[in-house]
Amino acid sequence: MTNHDAVSEGIDPSTPSVARMYDYYLGGKDNFASDREAAEQFIQVLPGIRQMVRENRAFLSRSVEFVARQGVDQFLDIGSGLPTRENVHEVAHRVTPEARVVYVDIDPIVLSHGRALLEDNPHTSVVQADMREPELLLTHPEIDGVVDFTRPVAVLLTAMLHFVPDEAVVTRILTAIRERLVPGSHVIVSHAFEGDVSAEVHEAGQRPYRLTNAGGLTSRGPERLAELMEGLEILEPGVVPVHAWRPASPEDGEDVVIDLTAPGILGLVGRR
Ligand code: SAM
Repeated sequence: MTNHDAVSEGIDPSTPSVARMYDYYLGGKDNFASDREAAEQFIQVLPGIRQMVRENRAFLSRSVEFVARQGVDQFLDIGSGLPTRENVHEVAHRVTPEARVVYVDIDPIVLSHGRALLEDNPHTSVVQADMREPELLLTHPEIDGVVDFTRPVAVLLTAMLHFVPDEAVVTRILTAIRERLVPGSHVIVSHAFEGDVSAEVHEAGQRPYRLTNAGGLTSRGPERLAELMEGLEILEPGVVPVHAWRPASPEDGEDVVIDLTAPGILGLVGRR
């Protein structure tokens, strides 16, 4: 996409977008100079970020497959990001070909690329909405009309709640979702956690994210994430770095190291 095309679709190429920076970390091509510059600054602070986002995608894949195997056939992926490999519908459709998947994101570029990719897929849709208004989002006609909330749903909030700094808003998001879900539903969360980094490293990591459309990056630890799942049963193995959440094979599990002093992405799955 050229800068000119972007602007005509309401996309601002000059402000780094967290969706496009994430695409850059993953080696994608849907990003502009401003995104690459901010992402490179963050890579200087946290060189492991590219590996971490790949592990986050692998967690998303394993958790969606797990939930689909529990019989859930409706997925609401909030803060879905730009399409990449192993998107939720691809994973879910391997288990249940008719599974319904709704992608939701605030960034217009996600809408534009998502719609182009999914136009021939009758079981998926893409909606632009803001998670900070959870009541509006959950009653949005393009969501409420497609997802049947009287049956189990899996709601994904992966690598997105750290873009919501206000604790009261984050609590409201999880409360609104929980109240909407019937038993058998699942909530899949992953979240940035900075561990025990120094104040200097914290500040250096904040700098590139302050320039973005999200305005910052908020770390939350295992206790806060568990608290957000109140009213849901947190499934084994609990709140762990994403690579340690039900590794794909016992061999993968053998090498798993859990170090909560180091920065990383934590993952957890709750069941209603
Ligand atoms: N969920 C995907 C994953 O885990 O691979 C993509 C994560 S990406 C880092 C975060 C996404 O959250 C971006 O696409 C961003 O636009 C979206 N986002 C940030 N704030 C949001 C909000 N208030 N409402 C909806 N989406 C939001």
